[in-house]
Amino acid sequence: MNQNLFATFAKRMRERGDADFITTRQGRGYRHAEALAATERLAGALVELGVTPGDRVAVQVDKSPETILLYLATLRVGGVYLPLNTGYTGEEIHYFLADAEPALFVCRPADVESAQSIAADTGCPQVASLGTTADGSLMEKAEVAVPHDSIVERDDNDLAAILYTSGTTGRSKGAMLTHRNLGSNAATLAKAWHFSERDRLIHALPIFHTHGLFVACNVTLMAGASMLFLPKFDADVIFEEMPRGTVLMGVPTFYTRLVADARLTPDVTANMRLFVSGSAPLTAETHREFEQKTGHAILERYGMTETNMNLSNPYDGERRAGTVGMPLPGVEYRITDRETHEPVPQGEIGMLEIRGPNVFVGYWRMPEKTREELLEDGFFVTGDLAMVDERSYVHIVGRDKDLVISGGYNVYPKEVEQVIDELEGVHESAVIGLPHADLGEGVTAVVVPEPGASLDEAQVLDHLQGQLAKYKQPKRVFFADGLPRNTMGKVQKNQLREQYQDTYR
Ligand code: ATP
Ligand code: MG
Repeated sequence: MNQNLFATFAKRMRERGDADFITTRQGRGYRHAEALAATERLAGALVELGVTPGDRVAVQVDKSPETILLYLATLRVGGVYLPLNTGYTGEEIHYFLADAEPALFVCRPADVESAQSIAADTGCPQVASLGTTADGSLMEKAEVAVPHDSIVERDDNDLAAILYTSGTTGRSKGAMLTHRNLGSNAATLAKAWHFSERDRLIHALPIFHTHGLFVACNVTLMAGASMLFLPKFDADVIFEEMPRGTVLMGVPTFYTRLVADARLTPDVTANMRLFVSGSAPLTAETHREFEQKTGHAILERYGMTETNMNLSNPYDGERRAGTVGMPLPGVEYRITDRETHEPVPQGEIGMLEIRGPNVFVGYWRMPEKTREELLEDGFFVTGDLAMVDERSYVHIVGRDKDLVISGGYNVYPKEVEQVIDELEGVHESAVIGLPHADLGEGVTAVVVPEPGASLDEAQVLDHLQGQLAKYKQPKRVFFADGLPRNTMGKVQKNQLREQYQDTYR
C-alpha cells in the first residue's frame, strides 16, 4: 500500500468533494475536490521543473491557499517540502539553500532576481515564483502542465518534509520528518481534539512552522474540515469571524490580546468549540481570564518541530491552567536527570524526553547533533525542563538552555518570573543568567512595566525578599518597553543575554 501521506489526504478530499477546504476573506479559495485537482496541475509543474522523488522543494512565499496546494503537490510527487520563514534575508536564504540543496526554490514574485542569484551561487537548478493571488510563474506553469494524477509511492519512513526549527536557542536545525511522523500525529490530534467535517478553523498563524502548517492544516485535511486563511493575526478580524468559526489555534500572544479586548464575551465565542494554544507558554492568568470572559477553557498543548505534538490537555476533562496536560495516545514521555537520562522521582524537575511515531528521524546533515539528542532507545531529548504533578499533568518549567546556574544552584527562570509578574505594575518579565566572575552566572531580570506604571529596581527587589531564596533573587533588574519575541511569540532570551552580557564584568 502506498504510505504517502498525501494518499490519505487525497482520499478525504475526494470524499469531501464540494465542501469548502480553504476560504479567504477575499472570497478566493478552494473546495476539497478543486484543491485536489489543483494539486495535480501543480504536481505536473513540479515534475516539469525537474522535481523527482526525494528532492527537496524549498519555499519562501507569503501565506496563501496556493502555498498549501504546493505543499500537497510536493507530497504527491514524492518530494520533500521545505518551507522557510518569510522573514529570512537573502543571506539567510543562501545558508538554507546551500544546506538543503533543493531541486527547486519557490520564492515571492518580487524576489525572483535575488532568488536566481542565490540559486546560481548554491547550485539550486530551478527557481519559480508564487504570489498571494494565484499569480507567479509556478501557477502559470501549472496552467499548461500535463496534470500529474498519480501519487508517487512512498514508504512510511521516507521523508515528507524538512522543517527548520525556530532558531530560539541558536541556528535553526533542519528536522527530517517522515510520512509516518506527520500522518500519525495528524490522525492522533484530529481524534484527540474531536475534529470533524463540520469544523471551520480560523487560521491566523504563519505556515512555515509546525503549528500553522502541520498541526493546523494536516488536522484539517485528516478530518475533512475547512479553514479560513488569514494573512496574520488581527483582533478585529478574529472577532468578526468567530461567529462563523469553530476552532482557533493560536500562540499565547493571540490570547493575551483577545483577553485585553472588551469585545471578548460569551456571545462572540458562542459558535466556537475549541481554542488551542501552543508554541510558547500560556500563563495561568491568561488561561483563567479567558475562561472567565468566555466560558471556554483554552486547551494548551506542547510540541516542537522535531516531534510534532506530544502532550495535550484533555478535550474532555479538566484543562489545567499553566500545564500542557498528558501524553497524546501513542506518545511516551519521561522526565530524567540531565546527565544520566535516568528518570527522576515524580514532582521533581528534569529533562523532558519523548518517544513515539511522531518523533523525527534526525537533523538534516547534522549527524552529531542527531546522536546527542536522539538516544539509542528512541527517546528524543527535547531540551525542555518539566515536572509532572500529582494528577499527572505535565508542567513545562523552561528550556534547559535558559536554566541559570548561580553559585552552583539551579535557578528556574519561570519561578522567578512568576513572582515578579505578581507585583502591581509589572506587565511581564524575563529572567536570564549573565556571566558573573564570582557566581558563574548572575540572576538578572528584565521587566516590562504596565503602561503608565512607575517602577524601580528597589521595588522589584523588595517584592522578592522573603518570597524567594536569596540565590534566586536577581542581582540586577532592568526595565524595557517590551521583550524581544519572534513570530511565534517566543521570547528571544539569547538577545537579552547578548544585550546585557557585560552587566557583571
Ligand atoms: P530552536 O530549537 O531552533 O532553538 P525552538 O525550540 O523555539 O527553536 P520550535 O521547534 O518551533 O523551535 O519550538 C519548540 C519549543 O517551543 C519547545 O521546545 C518549547 O520550548 C516551546 N513550546 C512549545 N509549546 C509550548 C508550551 N505549550 N509551553 C511552553 N513551551 C512550549
Ligand atoms: Mg528547539
